[in-house]
Amino acid sequence: MYLHGTSKINAEGHLEIGGVDVADLAKEYGTPLYIVDEALVRQRANEYVSAFEASGLKFQVAYASKAFSVMAMCAIAEQEGLSLDVVSDGELYTALQAGFPAGRIHFHGNNKTPDEINMALDANIGCFVVDNFVELHMLNALAADKGKKVKILFRITPGVEAHTHEYISTGQQDSKFGFDLGNGAAKQAIEEALKLSNIEILGVHSHIGSQIFEVDGFRMAVDKVAAFAVQIREELGHTFQVINLGGGFGIRYVEGDTPLPVAQYVAAITDAIISNFSAANFPLPEIWVEPGRSIVGDAGTTLYTVGTMKEIPGVRKYIAVDGGMMDNPRPALYQSRYEAILANRANEANAETVTIAGKACESGDKLIIDLELPKAETGDLLAVFCTGAYNYAMASNYNRFRRPAVVFVKDGQSDLVVQRESLENIVGNDVIPARLRKSLAK
Ligand SMILES: *Cc1c(COP(=O)(O)O)cnc(C)c1O
Repeated sequence: MYLHGTSKINAEGHLEIGGVDVADLAKEYGTPLYIVDEALVRQRANEYVSAFEASGLKFQVAYASKAFSVMAMCAIAEQEGLSLDVVSDGELYTALQAGFPAGRIHFHGNNKTPDEINMALDANIGCFVVDNFVELHMLNALAADKGKKVKILFRITPGVEAHTHEYISTGQQDSKFGFDLGNGAAKQAIEEALKLSNIEILGVHSHIGSQIFEVDGFRMAVDKVAAFAVQIREELGHTFQVINLGGGFGIRYVEGDTPLPVAQYVAAITDAIISNFSAANFPLPEIWVEPGRSIVGDAGTTLYTVGTMKEIPGVRKYIAVDGGMMDNPRPALYQSRYEAILANRANEANAETVTIAGKACESGDKLIIDLELPKAETGDLLAVFCTGAYNYAMASNYNRFRRPAVVFVKDGQSDLVVQRESLENIVGNDVIPARLRKSLAK
């Protein structure tokens, strides 16, 4: 059993996170329940900040809020000195409502609408990461309407892509995101932007993938971006002040996942920046990164109650829990793997191999295939680890299930940060037109 952060097994054989017995959390808040180990989130944030401080470079660590965007998380990011990436009006609104400083917000996305751009301009956010030519000219025009000059990075596709364990370096990348470096689109974007009076180019951004366990891809990306910076200075006379290397730093979901310590990812990036830019006699740029998963992923645990069971002799035994693909779509979407334990009987020896099924009307709604567990009974608690990233964020109301509550736990205390949805919430946006009402009871 691999326990993350402050998680441990207490004297009663119960899983405890942040000094709180999860059986007590189940009683107080119900299940399914997302539990976040606040100390571990803060520790991860601090690992990034400390590693950059050690490099001596100027930096921003921008938490990619898409991984888990709720107001309480924005508050923690703010306290830990992080910046924040948003990709929608909803994520921007969440950050602003939380009181997150607008100057530390960066706006991403390949199809920002005029409404979203205006909202971000009105809030005076710190930076737009411009993805394509249409957006560049729209942003300049909307900024001009408001008499503002906006800071931007250009998202470029450097021709390096990480497939978790390997990298491919190709001339031409087929991606919906960004300006291609190899075909000249990136240079053309800089050329066009230099003529726009409401745009200020800070530099460039690249993001090479997700759940990355090695540093070679980041080094390759730095090499390409540095060469581009030198080319732009020579050919267009513009000097980048900021290089953003994106996110994608891996975490341990299951045995066999071997992420590097945060400090090693950061050192690989800062070393590559210093050597490339020094060699070119280029003023050392400010470095930004955008970790999402590696800030919140291993701090999250989802707690379920075991319900029904079905054994198919010689095939498999299903154990059904009170959630599923609606609170964690990743196994169904990407065959993602997770580890889990019986949280109220954590000291008992494993006795059977089971498949954890959700309760959605989809045969594919299986959270974990072939999990070793003690013999589970109806009413037991199942804790699935490492669900902090892209779980609540991707949750749906499929089958009109209610999205679970989220609690932060720390130093023996639990705090609700998102309420469980109510049945009233489920129909809250529904409207029955008058002409359909006549025959109904009310
Ligand atoms: C998704 C994304 C991130 C965060 O990725 P993680 O794998 O969660 O670290 C950062 N930057 C961009 C542009 C992204 O699309």
